[in-house]
Amino acid sequence: MKNPFEEIKPFIVLLAVELKPMKQTEWVSKFTEFASIDELPDEDKKLIEHARKSVMSAYAPYSRFSVGAAVLLENGVVMLGNNQENASYPIGLCAERVAVFAAAANYPGVKIKAIAITALSKQFLIDKPITPCGACRQAIAEYEHRYSHPIRLIMVGETGKVLVADSIRHFLPYAFDGEDLKAKPI
Ligand SMILES: [Zn+2]
Repeated sequence: MKNPFEEIKPFIVLLAVELKPMKQTEWVSKFTEFASIDELPDEDKKLIEHARKSVMSAYAPYSRFSVGAAVLLENGVVMLGNNQENASYPIGLCAERVAVFAAAANYPGVKIKAIAITALSKQFLIDKPITPCGACRQAIAEYEHRYSHPIRLIMVGETGKVLVADSIRHFLPYAFDGEDLKAKPI
């Protein structure tokens, strides 16, 4: 029987010849580690205090893993958020998104300068920084894009070192954003 792919073989060879050399790019993510909160600038310290206050109001009866977030706006307002769980598990929302959505809902047009994130578990000691989940990274990236302004992230557990990043881009390179949805001439 004749091989049906025999006829397209010449085209495949032609394509291979015309392909340009592969291009590789590299992304460098930068994080700063502080041994403790004491080493942080005052503004970061204060924001963590707000996040630690917020974590106490989390509603996390199922995971027993409470997360608190505090968003600092350019006008000095601090907006708190904490995780809100639900008996229908998937509809619960993370602290970071509660905080940034509340900020955008109450102060539309005001840039977000920074977000502090912390956590508290009823089952074990959290001794390392808590970083935003993938969905929250995408949500925070949306507001960096919206306001064309980087958002500083300050992350800490109950104890231990503090992790700081100057932009969500360090957590989410090549982020999908509104630019990708703009019509381009065909
Ligand atoms: Zn999240």
